Amino acid sequence: MENSSVKTITVLGATGSIGDATLDIMREQRAKNGSDSIKVKALTANSNWKKLAKLVHEFHPEFIALADGQFENDLREAIAGFDTQIGIGPDALITAAACDAHWVMAAITGAAGLPSVLEAAKRGCVLALANKEALVCSGSLLMSICAKNGTTLLPVDSEHNAIFQVFDPAQSNMVEKIILTASGGPFLSWSFEQIKKATPAQAIAHPVWAMGSKISVDSASLMNKGLEIIEARHLFDVSPSQIDVLVHPQSVVHGLVQYKDGSLLAQLGAPDMRVPIAHAWAWPNRIVTSVKSLCLSELSRLDFEPPDDRRFPALNLAKHAMAAGGNSCNALNAANEVAVALFLQGNLGFGQIAELISTVMNSKTSESDPWRGEPQSFEQVFEIDKLARYVALQSAQRLQD
Ligand code: NAD
Ligand code: MG
Repeated sequence: MENSSVKTITVLGATGSIGDATLDIMREQRAKNGSDSIKVKALTANSNWKKLAKLVHEFHPEFIALADGQFENDLREAIAGFDTQIGIGPDALITAAACDAHWVMAAITGAAGLPSVLEAAKRGCVLALANKEALVCSGSLLMSICAKNGTTLLPVDSEHNAIFQVFDPAQSNMVEKIILTASGGPFLSWSFEQIKKATPAQAIAHPVWAMGSKISVDSASLMNKGLEIIEARHLFDVSPSQIDVLVHPQSVVHGLVQYKDGSLLAQLGAPDMRVPIAHAWAWPNRIVTSVKSLCLSELSRLDFEPPDDRRFPALNLAKHAMAAGGNSCNALNAANEVAVALFLQGNLGFGQIAELISTVMNSKTSESDPWRGEPQSFEQVFEIDKLARYVALQSAQRLQD
C-alpha cells in the first residue's frame, strides 16, 4: 500500500516541451520535499527513445511507453538493468494512462493523445490537460466522462488556466464573457503576401514561447487560438458568443473574465508554462516555484487589439466549426493536423494551410454533410477524425497539382 502523502504521477508526452516543464516542476518539488515525495508511475514518448531512457535513469518510472516501435531495441538496451516495464506502440500509451497515478499530465500533441486522455479520464484522477486537441475532438463527451468518473480536469493551456483562476463557477450566470489573449505569433506585423510564403523555419520561430513545432505553426496561423476557443467553450460551458480573443503581444495577461457587474478579472504572469503547470500541480493549493515573478514596472506598455481575420483566416474557420458543432470541430482539428504536417514537410505553403482546412470543412454534398451534429460516441469521434484526414490528404493532392 502506497503512503497517501506520496504524490503519484504520470506524464503522457514526457519528452516534449510541456513534458520538460512538468518534470522541472517535479524536480523542484522533490528537492524541497525529498525524492520519496513523488512516485513516477508512467512516462511516454513518441520516438525520442534517448530522452525517454534518460528519464528512466532519473525517475525510475514503473512503466514507459514508446509509441514508435522502430526504436524498441535501442530503448531496451539503454535501460537494461532497470525494472521499468516497457510498452511499445500506440496502445502502450493507453496502458500508461491506465497506471494508477493520482495526477496525470496530458501533453501528447494532437488527436494521437485522445485515447490515453480518455483512459485517464475514465479512471478518476486529476487530469492536467495541455493536449487541447483531445478536447477539441471529443468536447462534451470527454467532459461527461470526467464528470461521471470523478476526474478533475485542470486546464494547463496558459489562457484557460488563467481564466480558471479568475472564473467563479458559483457566479457563472454573472459572467458576460471570457477573453483569451494571443501573442499574435511571429507574423503579427507581416503582410498577407509575406505570410502566404512563410517557411517552416519562420513559422516555428515564436517570439515569446518555446514550444513543439505543431503548436508553434498553429500559433503562427492563429489556429492555436481557434482550437483554444473551442477548448474554452467546453471547459467553462460558455456559449460561442461569450468568447473573445485579443491579440496581446507582450503575453503577460493570459486570460480574463468579464463579469456583468463591470468587473474585469485577469491573471497575469511571466510567459512561462511552469506557472500554469505548477497551478495544476498544486490545485486547490499553491506551491513555491523558481519562476521569476512578473515585474509590472519593468513593462513599458501592454497592448491589446482584435485579431486580423484577413491575414489570419484560421481563427474564423474555427469559429464556424464551433458554431456548427462537435463533429465539425473534430474535422477542423484533423484537417489542421494534416495541413500542418504537410507544411512542416515542405509539401504545402503556409497560405495553403487555411485553404486546405476550408476545403475539408466544405466537403459536403447536397445529400450529406459528414461533419454535421454532435458525436454520439468515441467510436464516432475516431471515425470522423479518420475520414477528415483522408479528405484532407485527397484535397491536398489537388492543391499541390
Ligand atoms: P512537443 O512536440 O514538444 O511534445 C509532444 C510530446 O508528445 C512528445 O513527448 C512526443 O513524443 C509526444 N508525441 C507527439 N506525437 C505523438 C504520437 N503520435 N504518439 C505518441 N506520442 C506523441 O509539444 P508541446 O509543445 O509539449 O505540446 C504538447 C501539447 O501541449 C500540445 O497539445 C500543445 O497544443 C499543448 N500546449 C503546449 C504549450 C507549450 O507551451 N508548449 C502550451 C499550451 C498547450
Ligand atoms: Mg495557449
